[in-house]
Amino acid sequence: MHLARFPRIFLAHLPTPLERMDRLSKELGGPEIWIKRDDCTGLSTGGNKTRKLEFLMAEAEAMGADMVMTQGATQSNHARQTAAFASKLGMKCHILLEDRTGYQDHNYNDNGNVLLDHLHGATTEKFPGGHDMPGEMEKAAEAMRADGKKVFTIPGGGSNPTGALGYVNCALELLNQVNSSGMVIDRLVHATGSSGTQAGLIVGLKALNAGIPLLGFGTRAPQPKQEQMVYDLAVKTAEKLGCPGVVAREDVVADTSYVGTGYGIPREDTIEAIRMFAELEGILLDPVYSGKGAAGLIDYCRKGKFKKGERIVFLHTGGSAGLFGYDQVLASGNTSLAAE
Ligand SMILES: *Cc1c(COP(=O)(O)O)cnc(C)c1O
Repeated sequence: MHLARFPRIFLAHLPTPLERMDRLSKELGGPEIWIKRDDCTGLSTGGNKTRKLEFLMAEAEAMGADMVMTQGATQSNHARQTAAFASKLGMKCHILLEDRTGYQDHNYNDNGNVLLDHLHGATTEKFPGGHDMPGEMEKAAEAMRADGKKVFTIPGGGSNPTGALGYVNCALELLNQVNSSGMVIDRLVHATGSSGTQAGLIVGLKALNAGIPLLGFGTRAPQPKQEQMVYDLAVKTAEKLGCPGVVAREDVVADTSYVGTGYGIPREDTIEAIRMFAELEGILLDPVYSGKGAAGLIDYCRKGKFKKGERIVFLHTGGSAGLFGYDQVLASGNTSLAAE
């Protein structure tokens, strides 16, 4: 696994810390829970997209792009991190934002990640939910190209084989950390969405023959679709990496029981997880991804699916900037702020 063969802009703060969560573990009374702090990757409050963008933005630079374009939900962390990375490289950034929640709230629409997109100088364009966003982005990119811009488009969540290399790198980094400290881990869990994180991790873990099962907690799609998306991307990523066939379909496991009504709409247990991490560990989760992943982790511990004697690592994928778009939901515990 020779990642140095791929163009990369070294900008992430790596390796991210691997820390034990004593108080949360004690509270849940089950396994020993550790946290891999990918919320600390740097780049405008950090998060998992930084690792992907190291490889994606290197491709943009190599093709001489002067503008990057991407798309996501209104409170997209990926959009915010892409905007920040573009600033660092002196590229323009244009973002297409899809309204996936119907929240009319001011902070949801203009604060949090949206505020940061604009601070980094990105331009944004809004679309109603259910739009063909990849199609819209290609149209917008064509229009900019006709205008003389050299546009590099990045798919939603940065999830293609290039972006997934960032999480192959994370698997390698985590194994180095546990091997060098003599620490055996039984399982790795995290929130899964556009699939690049889980696909990269599973390719890395399997290529290294780590023997560590990976579980993704869904945040949007139903289980069969989520697992298929991850598997398809893992297959392509393994090919890119030069180890085709390393991932089997059954290596890809996602539990989508904690999604609730839909993408970006927190459930009661999402909010409970955010509060528990904040109050017991001083760690900020987010209402769209890591809060749902942590809700799954907590429920698995309570139900005895993760047991005493096991050591579980929760990969914190970031997203805390999104909290400032969800202040009303957090204050009221009311998870339906949709337009009447
Ligand atoms: C994008 C994102 C995820 C999901 O990662 P994917 O690679 O899209 O599956 C998880 N957590 C946070 C905070 C994110 O922004």
